Amino acid sequence: MDATCTKPNLLDLDRPGLAGLLTQLGEKPFRADQLLQWLHARGCDDFAAMTNLSKALRERLAQETEIRVPEVTADQQAADGTRKWLLRLPGGSAIETVYIPETRRGTLCVSSQVGCQLNCSFCQTAQQGFNRNLSTGEILGQMWTASRLLPPHPVREKPITNVVFMGMGEPLLNFDNVVAAIRVLLDDLAYGLSKRRVTVSTAGVVPMIDRLREECPVALAVSLHAPDDALRDELVPLNRRYPIAELLDACRRYVAGDDRRRVTFEYTLLAGVNDHPAQAKALAKLLARVPAKVNLIPYNPVAGLPYETSPPEAVAKFRDEVLRHGLVATVRKTRGDGIDGACGQLAGKVLPRQRRSTHVPVVV
Ligand code: SF4
Repeated sequence: MDATCTKPNLLDLDRPGLAGLLTQLGEKPFRADQLLQWLHARGCDDFAAMTNLSKALRERLAQETEIRVPEVTADQQAADGTRKWLLRLPGGSAIETVYIPETRRGTLCVSSQVGCQLNCSFCQTAQQGFNRNLSTGEILGQMWTASRLLPPHPVREKPITNVVFMGMGEPLLNFDNVVAAIRVLLDDLAYGLSKRRVTVSTAGVVPMIDRLREECPVALAVSLHAPDDALRDELVPLNRRYPIAELLDACRRYVAGDDRRRVTFEYTLLAGVNDHPAQAKALAKLLARVPAKVNLIPYNPVAGLPYETSPPEAVAKFRDEVLRHGLVATVRKTRGDGIDGACGQLAGKVLPRQRRSTHVPVVV
């Protein structure tokens, strides 16, 4: 929390949290249902408009609490409809949130940290270092803001149908706040998303994958990017702490007991580094015993980094080799070009606090 903000932010609280707060104020806990609907389903930030709450409660809430949302400092739209917001946080850092419209769904890509500690060698966010975790309210504030700013969809009831934690940061290193935010995304009185429409994307924080399975088993995506430990150690340094075999064991546990569930493996194709057909074959072999689908992502070059985009022929060859071995694989269409809203291009503004580290954070 910003040092200047002393009142509790209602966006930090899920339904039980709001019920607890209302009990402290001498109210009946069921008022939390009404408050949650005002805050999230209706996107209301004006206590005076919450007319099914008593005047006395509205005044008390206005005096003792806040509805604090990030301030939008830039709002860009690409030709393909992708929209990106730069959101300023207390203290001066900024995060990015991206909306990606498709025919059958609208996906919001949210950030979970200001910057990232994990230092993946090809990533734009990693270049910025790490400042801090986002609060639950700052994570939900992205959904709240996007839901308010997007125009009604001509067909769908709501423009946003899916949320993916693939923006700035490693969500499983901000576990408690991310899970609290997900609980509100799933709550029928708030955003009412189903578990399969919320995806947590991780670089492979193995113990936290197990905790997520126990506490909030939404869809899981893993940023793999290499078919062997030697190369993955280089591209995703977290691999030195949790190597591929341990990671895949955790993935198997994650979907065990439900034949319909699969883990999505993200694989960013870097020209001449990980895009050879022999590496596609190795990847297919590696994933043969995990219920998996593979998302191949053509790399978006980042200024100052030595990696290049794989040529389209190499991407097609890689995909065909993976398919030939019986895996489900798709090539992700690059979206939001021109506004740096494509994968791996989220930068925001990370005020220096902890610079890039060559150490892999140890997580228990
Ligand atoms: S790719 Fe993801 S986990 Fe790796 S440094 Fe970038 S934001 Fe962090």
